[in-house]
Amino acid sequence: ALVVRHRMQSSGKWARTVAILKELEGTCGTPIGKLKQIADAMTVEMYAGLASEGGSKLKMIISFVDNLPTGDEKGLFYALDLGGTNFRVLRVLLGGKEGRVVKQESKEVSIPHDLMIGTSQELFDFIATELAEFVATEGEGLHVSSGKQRELGFTFSFPVKQTSITSGNLIKWTKGFSIEDAVEKDVVGELTKAMERMGLDMRVSALVNDTIGTLAGGRYHNQDVIAAVILGTGTNAAYVERANAIPKWQGLLPKSGEMVINMEWGNFRSSHLPLTEYDQALDVESKNPGEQIFEKVISGMYLGEIVRRVLYRMAEEAAFFGDTVPPKLNIPYILRTPDMSAMHHDTSSDLKVVGNKLKDILEITNTSLKMRKVIVEVCDIVATRGARLSAAGIVGILKKLGRDTVRDGETQKSVIALDGGLYEHYKKFSGCMESTLKELLGEDVAENIIVEHSNDGSGIGASLLAASHSQYLEV
Ligand code: BGC
Ligand code: MG
Repeated sequence: ALVVRHRMQSSGKWARTVAILKELEGTCGTPIGKLKQIADAMTVEMYAGLASEGGSKLKMIISFVDNLPTGDEKGLFYALDLGGTNFRVLRVLLGGKEGRVVKQESKEVSIPHDLMIGTSQELFDFIATELAEFVATEGEGLHVSSGKQRELGFTFSFPVKQTSITSGNLIKWTKGFSIEDAVEKDVVGELTKAMERMGLDMRVSALVNDTIGTLAGGRYHNQDVIAAVILGTGTNAAYVERANAIPKWQGLLPKSGEMVINMEWGNFRSSHLPLTEYDQALDVESKNPGEQIFEKVISGMYLGEIVRRVLYRMAEEAAFFGDTVPPKLNIPYILRTPDMSAMHHDTSSDLKVVGNKLKDILEITNTSLKMRKVIVEVCDIVATRGARLSAAGIVGILKKLGRDTVRDGETQKSVIALDGGLYEHYKKFSGCMESTLKELLGEDVAENIIVEHSNDGSGIGASLLAASHSQYLEV
């Protein structure tokens, strides 16, 4: 009798696990009709954000970039890329007309976690110190002509209200950064002061978001690039808008007639978004509750954490891992998206990778194949939702530009430059994003829409924009 009771109990637990899984699958569902509503909502919000300041959750930030690289950019420029767990400094020699990128050198530094939640001065001093060290390694054949001030393209991948191409105030932090005294400050001012403290004589000649850098870098190689999307620790998009389609723009109409817009789409939200109890709890407990809702269901900072929350509930309510909840499973952000991706891509017949990840990260041993399959399924549901939503976002942009339909015999290509670790490394995610794009657009349109990986376009892009906004340009 005892044995029978035990069996019934464990099959009850299994039924509970399956119920949680099914519920997750249901609430995360992204049928095509829903995705179309989300794409439409994105387009509507784009109009609203362009119409007036504060008119939408989408900030639709004017980047002050009204000219994209032509290929004529020439000289030695620096770039600094800050926006995630690492920052990079680059030295790029641009060759002009035929030369292109003649030479480039770079250094990547990981940002100590304390500095992400400390003071503005601490963060910028750290960056300026690393930058100064890098500048000091300027060598033969790759140095700034004497008498000239070094110039820097500063990629700062957080929402900034630009006030010119060389200045802008931080609106808020995202992606786990939280440095209160930097909010509303001019980030170029903060960096410049730090450089002065380090005795580094350098001028920021372009302040750009990483989406803008990626767009510029993409355009340098391919003139059909019209938008850029980052799918990394965070997510965002930028695109080329007609200047006279921006009612809130008070300045002169640029000669090009164009203006690049940083959408800050991570802050998009809509009643159509498929949100779960896990998302709600993640949001409430995050450093920026109520903000960046689209980002929190799509980007690399959060996907692994959503999976952890689902597994935690299974452990607690369905004794999925046995009678007690494995303690490590209770640690926020312990399951990182790269680990989730590794589990999701496990092709071994016994799901060895899943087993090892559970052991190494969560100290959970003795998982059955059946359990591992459930875990892969959770990864699949969470990644698929994120990938399909990002495709809907892209369709929203194409709609805004009238590029979501084929006009008679039109063969104009629309290229979207993509970058970010999530896109680059999480193949099931990027594969799903691209196939969903085709599904949403239909074959005929999809033929002219090209998604291109812009490998680290944002660093090169920032140096290109530094070049085209150089103080030494003859006009
Ligand atoms: C930031 C954006 C950035 C994106 C990708 C978001 O959290 O708000 O400015 O472009 O991450 O790095
Ligand atoms: Mg980046």
